[in-house]
Amino acid sequence: MSTALKQVFNKDKTFRPKRKFEPGTQRFELHKKAQASLSSGVDLKGAVQLPNGEDLNDWIAVHVVDFFNRINLIYGTICEFCTDRSCPIMSGGQKYEYRWQDDNKYKRPTALPAPQYMSLLMDWIEVQINNEEIFPTSIGIPFPKNFLQICKKILCRLFRVFVHVYIHHFDRLGTMGAEAHVNTCYKHFYYFVTEFNLVDRKELEPLKEMTSRICH
Ligand SMILES: [Zn+2]
Repeated sequence: MSTALKQVFNKDKTFRPKRKFEPGTQRFELHKKAQASLSSGVDLKGAVQLPNGEDLNDWIAVHVVDFFNRINLIYGTICEFCTDRSCPIMSGGQKYEYRWQDDNKYKRPTALPAPQYMSLLMDWIEVQINNEEIFPTSIGIPFPKNFLQICKKILCRLFRVFVHVYIHHFDRLGTMGAEAHVNTCYKHFYYFVTEFNLVDRKELEPLKEMTSRICH
């Protein structure tokens, strides 16, 4: 991790507390396993594959939470440069514009400035992953029937954070020395979602060119 990232991490001001796995639980062990496979090598494509004997939902749950924590941190590193003024609309270049929709205030897809969109997005994900009925932490409590569907939506929304950060704030990542770190996280994310077909190809379009350069 670069110094700039560490500083931001330590500042901890704009960040939500990380969702943690309880030590001793099966998911904690799985989380450790996933982490260990990352530090031991650079084969991210291999690292995302479901280990023998593990449950797919558990594997997805662990990754969704990890990606949320990491991508939230990445956005945090550039968030002071992402303002209503610099980014009056949540977009990925001229071609892609994202509109926010939820079950609360925004029943219809609504164009919002990027910071507001990001804030709603992170809050929404946080609510999902802290909901015991969707992400049960106790052993023996099953995942809901729509678990995969919810995870797909979370990952699709997290992908949009990458799109915005890469397309609109790439220079800043370079200046901060965070580029390599973000690329690694992106690759890991990309391999994971494509391995299990969790994000529509159409959603991946905005970063297609970059993806073909860094993911093989
Ligand atoms: Zn922005």
